[in-house]
Amino acid sequence: MCGKEFDIWDEQENFCFEHKVGYGSIHDGEQVSLNLCCDCFDKVIDIVAPMCQVNPLSEV
Ligand SMILES: [Zn+2]
Repeated sequence: MCGKEFDIWDEQENFCFEHKVGYGSIHDGEQVSLNLCCDCFDKVIDIVAPMCQVNPLSEV
């Protein structure tokens, strides 16, 4: 997302989302390939989590 080269922490976490989009989405026929460094993952989850009815985050 930010374009930086992944460091060891980013490689270790390996936040990635790969999905071929099908019917039901306006992105039908497209492919999503999202690879995030730790900083970008934090940014994305901090935007997405408050929008969720069910919290996607939990303690492990
Ligand atoms: Zn990044």
